[in-house]
Amino acid sequence: QAKSQGQGRIAWFTRALGNDAKERSTLLQGLHKAFDLNRLFLVYQPKVDIQSEQVVGLEALVRWRDENGHMVPPDRFIPVAEQSGLIVALGLWVLRTALQTLAQLAQAGHGQIQMGVNVSVVQLEHPGFLAELKAILQASQLAPEQLELEVTESVAILGLDRVSALLESIRELGVGIAIDDFGTGFSSLSYIDRLPAHRLKIDRAFIENLDSEHRGARIARIIIPLGHQLGMKVVAEGVETREQIKVLQELGCDEVQGYFYARPMPYDELLTWLAKARAN
Ligand code: C2E
Ligand code: MG
Ligand code: MG
Ligand code: MG
Repeated sequence: QAKSQGQGRIAWFTRALGNDAKERSTLLQGLHKAFDLNRLFLVYQPKVDIQSEQVVGLEALVRWRDENGHMVPPDRFIPVAEQSGLIVALGLWVLRTALQTLAQLAQAGHGQIQMGVNVSVVQLEHPGFLAELKAILQASQLAPEQLELEVTESVAILGLDRVSALLESIRELGVGIAIDDFGTGFSSLSYIDRLPAHRLKIDRAFIENLDSEHRGARIARIIIPLGHQLGMKVVAEGVETREQIKVLQELGCDEVQGYFYARPMPYDELLTWLAKARAN
């Protein structure tokens, strides 16, 4: 009886795995097609200085609307793109497109704005990455300082020496580095100390419960001075309420990003938003 039960469980497990693999391969096919047909697009979310409320930068986020008109969230398709290696080409397209947007923005009178681009560890690890980055920057004729690459703590899997050398070379190009989703990864403090980053982005998970009697504030209270000690600006992700901003201000946070100020927007909407922000 125990044996047949076990087999039943294995059969169920295999089926679940099979569906999973099938679902992934369907997703990947759709993604390949969307990429080839140029159906992916970028949206941009402003990053705001917490004191002056001035826009200090943007973050580019990739979007995919599938053939049925449904949005597929990047948290679903980026991992698939990473596993298949498609992320290398996709990531270069994101970089090029984000820099084109910066050039367009400059023509529209928004010159000095900075752009954060998310980069997966699979991209960083790819041998051609640095050369490609250099070429894309040169072709764009923008100041490299306008670009910032956002990496997560997961870069730790490359090993400290390799990561710090890689990020150092990126910095030497003039490009900024941000550590994204900070606090959710597994890297040690000595690791963070060795990463040559300019910005520390506190993960949304710690910002969510900042209100209600400062419950989540304990972690933010630790991370903000930590970032400052290590010479970084600290950004809070996922800020949705005035109350959160108040707490973050008290804790000395430098910049905020979140629905409270703006959702990620397509280019046209961004232009309107920036014009309004400037008028205020
Ligand atoms: P991330 O880089 O940490 O981006 C922040 C995510 O938080 C975005 O989700 C953004 O839409 C969302 N967000 C911003 N403000 C708020 C808020 O106030 N409340 C809530 N609930 N959410 C907020 P999105 O666009 O779905 O992206 C998810 C993740 O997918 C990103 O996390 C990033 O890791 C990855 N991703 C997105 N675009 C790219 C890309 O071009 N390349 C790579 N490699 N990864 C990307
Ligand atoms: Mg990011
Ligand atoms: Mg993040
Ligand atoms: Mg993330």
